[in-house]
Order: sequence, then C-alpha cells, then structure tokens
Amino acid sequence: MPDDIFAELHDNQTPPLYRWFNGHAWVESKNGHYKDVVSPIDHTVLGKFPVVTTAEIDDAIARAHGAQRLWARVEITKRGKVLRLAADWIREHEPLLTTLLIKEIGKPADEAKDEIVRSADMLDYYTHEALHVGGEQLPSDAFPGYDQSKISIIERVPQGVVLAISPFNYPVNLSVSKLAPALMMGNAVIFKPPTNGALSALYLTQIFRKAGVPDDLLVTVTGGGEDIGDYLVGHPGINMITFTGSSQVGKSAAKIAGMIPLLFECGGNNAALVINGCDIETTALEIVKGAYSFAGQRCTAIKYVLGLDSDLDKVLPRVVALTQEKIKMGDPRDPGTKSVGPLITESAAKEVEARIVAAQQAGAKIVLGGKRQGNYIEPTILDHVTMDMEIVRIETFGPVVSFVRVKSIEEAIDLINRSTYGLQAAIYTCDEGLGIKLAGELDVGTVWINNKPQRGPDHFPFLGTKGSGVGVQGIKYSLEAMTRLKPIIINKPG
Ligand code: NAP
Repeated sequence: MPDDIFAELHDNQTPPLYRWFNGHAWVESKNGHYKDVVSPIDHTVLGKFPVVTTAEIDDAIARAHGAQRLWARVEITKRGKVLRLAADWIREHEPLLTTLLIKEIGKPADEAKDEIVRSADMLDYYTHEALHVGGEQLPSDAFPGYDQSKISIIERVPQGVVLAISPFNYPVNLSVSKLAPALMMGNAVIFKPPTNGALSALYLTQIFRKAGVPDDLLVTVTGGGEDIGDYLVGHPGINMITFTGSSQVGKSAAKIAGMIPLLFECGGNNAALVINGCDIETTALEIVKGAYSFAGQRCTAIKYVLGLDSDLDKVLPRVVALTQEKIKMGDPRDPGTKSVGPLITESAAKEVEARIVAAQQAGAKIVLGGKRQGNYIEPTILDHVTMDMEIVRIETFGPVVSFVRVKSIEEAIDLINRSTYGLQAAIYTCDEGLGIKLAGELDVGTVWINNKPQRGPDHFPFLGTKGSGVGVQGIKYSLEAMTRLKPIIINKPG
C-alpha cells in the first residue's frame, strides 16, 4: 500500500489541517474549530484536527446502525480477511507509524516500534480466536421440575454500535484492542481517539478503511474529550462503550452512560511487595523496568514498593544503582534514550513535580532525581513515603517510584487493599507458595510473582477491580464482551 493513501487525511498547510472520517469519506467539520496536536518533544504543532459537531455525530451514529446490520450478516471468515489485511498494512507502514508515534506522544523509539508491531500481531490473533467464540446449547431437564421438552440455543450476537475511546499512552495498541474485537464480532464502531494520539488514530483508520471495512461501519470522530466526550457517551444510539483512560474520566463516563454494557480499563496505581528472602537482583531489575518504561506513563507501571526495613535496605540501593546504569533520560528519537522521554504535556510534568515537592515537605526523602526540565522529569526514587501522600495515594503518571516502609506483611496487604485502585500488583519472594497465598489476599485484577506488572501477553485476561475498571479484556474475553447472549428456546417434539 503506497504512503500517499494518507494524503486524503489532511491538506498541505503547515501545520496540516486534518479531516475526520465520517464512515465513508474524509471531510472537514461544519464546526470550523480545530484542536492542535502538540509534540511533547519540542512543542511543534504536528497537525490540527477538527472538533466535530453534535449533528455530525448524530448522522454518523444513525448510518453506523444500518452498516452494522449488514456487517453482522457477513461471514466471520470474511470479516477476518479484512482485519488480517489491516494487520499486514500496519506492518508495511511500521516505520511511518513508529515515527509518528514518537513525535506525537514522545514514546522512546524502541517502545514505539513495539507498540506498532504488537498491534498487528494482536489483530491477527483476534481474527483466529474469533472463529472459536460461539454460543452453546442447554437442555431444560437439568433444572428440577423440568422435563426434556425444551432446548435453549444460546447464540452470541453483536452488541450493535460500540463507542471506542482510547488513551494517549497507547493510541495505536489500545485502539486496535477495541476496534478488532468489535468489528470481528459484527459490531459497528464509533471511534474517539485521544487528543495526543489523534493523528496516529487517523492513520490507523485509513488502514482499516483501505483494507476493506465497509462504508459507515467505522467512524472516527475527532474532538477533545471536553468537547464531545459527554455527548458521545450519553448518546442514545450507542449500545456499548469500551474505554481506556483515567479513573476520573471513566467514573464520570459510566454515570452518564447509564445502563449499557461497559468495558472500562482505568487508572492503575500498582504496588510491588518485597518479602523476606527475595532475590535482590531480580527484584531490583523488575522494579526498575516496571517503574520507568515510557517514563512511568503506563497503567501497569510500578508506583510504590512496600516492605520491611530489612528488605528495603537491601533492594533500594540496587534499584538506585540499576536506574543510574540502565535508564537514560533524553529525546525519544535518540535510540540511546532508554524509557524516560518527555511527559505528554508540560502541565502533566508540573503536576508530577508538585507531588514530589509535597512528598518531600511531608517527610519523604528524595534518593534520586526529583527535578523537572520542561516536560521532562528525572527518573525519581523517593524513600520513607507514606500512603497519605498524594504521590502514592493517586496515580502519578510519571517516572517516580516510592518506597513505603511497613512493620509487617499484613500491614502491606492492608495498605494495598485500602487503595481506591485495583489494577495489578507484584510480589517478589523466593517462596512462590507464599506468593500464591498472598496473591489470593490482594484485591487487584492481576498479581505477578517475581515479575513486573504489565499488560500481556495480550491473550491473558486483563482486568481491574475498584476504580481500575469494569469487565475483562484479553483476546478471547474482549471478543466475548463485544457480544451478548441471545437464547432462543424451542420445544422438542415429544
Ligand atoms: P484520560 O484523560 O482519561 O483520557 C482518555 C480518553 O478519554 C481520551 O480519548 C480523552 O480524550 C477521552 N475523554 C476525556 N474526557 C472525556 C469525557 N468527558 N467523556 C469521554 N471521553 C473523554 O486518560 P489519558 O490521560 O489519555 O490516559 C492515561 C490514563 O489512562 C491513566 O490513568 C492510565 O492509567 C489509564 N490507562 C489505563 C489502562 C488500563 O489498561 N487500565 C491502559 C492505558 C491507560 P482527550 O484526549 O481528547 O481529552
């Protein structure tokens, strides 16, 4: 597929004015208002995208319902063919997409490339797994008092028109993880990308389009969350919402959406629990990787490490040394930059800086880093942090890891469980049996033992408790979530 297929997306001005995709054409909005996509690396405006009007949204959703009814009748193998072609074209355009991602969200080069390649692999996997997502059949006499006269044929049918909202930190991967299962299971999608990441999402849309997604089945509406988010979420034409973003926006969207199926992955504020006898070197290395990938702007990043003095006094110096040795802050375009590039906006960096200062004023000790330059925050390690400090009480989306000293493992478990988040946790121990026992006591979606928290492999179930989400994702689980059960009961001839 030649690169010039992307020429339809924008005009030739500097910075380019992008169009939105109304389901069958790239068009300007009648609104006339545009939003800037500003590179976190050097603050250049990479492009401007239109803020669509509510009338444009209404029209697109109405057309999507018609397209969905036709698409649901297309054989699943043919739907899969379209999506596999999209996967191939993502691979073919990987250098272009990677470069755009680096500029648009400041993701270090290696991590940006991984995101693109992983998205294509995930698309392929969805198309294969979808072939095995089916319904079931139940006899009536399994329930007391019923004879064998009825059979329930339980089909899986599409939800209808699915609203997909993705976040800035994985604008390609976490868009594909919504579009692929929704389309595979016969739904239409109204796709609302994040402001930073909108351009990558428009390129992705064009790839799906050119791979053969039919007219009006996939609509990419652009506009800031504050402009069109509430309107989309509360729209009566939306049958289901799949959302990734902060717990704050997620909670507000859930209230507005009301009684429709929700698949939400929200904020994480993940703890690492270090237990007597752990392998110090492995533990320290996993904590460093877990804390600093993409400058800590990952929902599964390690945000705080809990342990007794006797353990933390051994692990902390190794975490400091390995951070100094392995984590290089710098321009994400430079292949020498390891994990810590700029944060997404200067205001996000200022917020992280303010929380570091507040923690220090409240008695925490800065062991490493702590300074801000523009959008950049140095890889930072804090010690003697307590759970009432904002730096750990709420998700701090930056390259900061805090050490919290506890008097007992029971106290650590209690602190993790009292958090308003429940995405993931890690336990580092040489006694895996004890790790499994303690994992059972943690009120979080997933527990990793002797590993850093992460999303993936993508076919593993992925979920959050409490403010971290609703519903279960992971390839098979996401496909199932994009359907509802439809029992059809027939009488068996006697
Ligand atoms: P965010 O500010 O909550 O935004 C997420 C998405 O929601 C964006 O597309 C945003 O659009 C949109 N949005 C904003 N206001 C809205 C509204 N009123 N109604 C509907 N949509 C609205 O989150 P973010 O800063 O992009 O992403 C970081 C957050 O996502 C972190 O909390 C992170 O933990 C979480 N996250 C969670 C997971 C997970 O798997 N659990 C994975 C990745 C990220 P605009 O950008 O245009 O405002």
